[in-house]
Amino acid sequence: MVEAGLDVARLNFSHGNLELHAENAERVRAAASAAGRQVAILQDLPGPKLRVGVIENEIAELRRGDTLVLLCGSNEIGNERQMSVTWPGLAEAVDPQDVIYLADGKIRLRVEAVRLGSGEVETVVEVGGAVASRQGLNIPGSTRGLKAVPDEDLEMLRFGESIGVDMVALSFVRTAEDVTNVREHTRLPLIAKIEKPQAVDEAEDIIRAADCVMVARGDLGIELPIQDVPLAQKRLLRIAGQLARPSITATQMLDSMVASPRPTRAEATDVANAIFDGTDAVMLSQESAVGQYPVETIAMMASICERTEQALPYEHWNDTRVRRDARDPAYTVAYSVCQAARDLNLAAIVAPTLSGRSARLISAHRPDVPILALSPGRETVRRCSLMWGVQAASMRRHEVTEALIADAARRVVELGWVKPGERVAITAGLPSGRPGTTSVMQIQQL
Ligand code: PEP
Repeated sequence: MVEAGLDVARLNFSHGNLELHAENAERVRAAASAAGRQVAILQDLPGPKLRVGVIENEIAELRRGDTLVLLCGSNEIGNERQMSVTWPGLAEAVDPQDVIYLADGKIRLRVEAVRLGSGEVETVVEVGGAVASRQGLNIPGSTRGLKAVPDEDLEMLRFGESIGVDMVALSFVRTAEDVTNVREHTRLPLIAKIEKPQAVDEAEDIIRAADCVMVARGDLGIELPIQDVPLAQKRLLRIAGQLARPSITATQMLDSMVASPRPTRAEATDVANAIFDGTDAVMLSQESAVGQYPVETIAMMASICERTEQALPYEHWNDTRVRRDARDPAYTVAYSVCQAARDLNLAAIVAPTLSGRSARLISAHRPDVPILALSPGRETVRRCSLMWGVQAASMRRHEVTEALIADAARRVVELGWVKPGERVAITAGLPSGRPGTTSVMQIQQL
């Protein structure tokens, strides 16, 4: 999978156990080093996801017209007539006539009555189907009473740090505060998964507070009317571009490849359209987690990406994609270096970077040449894997800007990324050795 084009591996902590995640992290690192590629590990925390409890014989078949009682906060074993739900507050969060979804939105329940005293929600099955133990439950309305970051998530976060994950995704974020609260617990980059209608409404503040955004279309497509999902995707990716935050578009991208060696035309077009919408990364879920063709799916996705990138509106994006009202020289340098690459037909943009920020800002402007990021920090090198158009490697740390530029020029030739005689632009900080000081650009023939 790494050789086929995998750049970031997601460990989904909603499934599996800690031991398995630690083993998988080891496998990813070993495969990346065998292939000589940088692969980042993304820890995806479950967040306040609502789930039904254990069901007798693991599965219950719900039929249209049946009555199903949800027992909020109970541990009772469920069946076709009643099921427990992990969250005691559910009874207070819904009203008669509200809709509740089970089994990834396949099953629809309508609330008939709420009995607050006993914590019971009586529903009628409108669309039936099979529901399995511990499957997710969605209520499109408000879940204000639910703790944004459950204590188990914080424990998982500490475990993730101990196995060296590179970034952390937060599920079911509702406000910017949900993101800033987690920052108090970690220095890892935070990815806000947008999958609640409230989060779509608060998108700009949430994306500004996060390091990256994920359009999590799986849950978003249950919580929003499905016809609103394409517009939400376009809007979220536009805001991410304006704020120079990397973005991920996720779920059902090549879904039919779970069981087929080829995608549908619509799926291939969906991947391409997400890239035209400005996404940095496209994500696979069950295609690579449980599908029959994981390597073929990744190779197919990579080839759709490469083909689509030949036709992006680079010139227009360089000029308009990022909002440059930040009065921050690093944004101006990022914009100018992309302009220089175009005007002077440069071979690449070389971006020495301590924190990864320079590479991120240049990437957000979508130059039509490779962005070669170099960093003394191994974590920074791996974090660049999520950024559009960036390849990254390590370099020595320098305190003097001239020495930094000279070493960066030498290093990209040594890596075989640029040939001697080709012209590149190199960005740098002044003074060197401090993050957030990027203010210099030099054009060099190597
Ligand atoms: C999603 O809902 O689209 C998503 C990516 O989240 P998860 O796979 O954790 O449900």
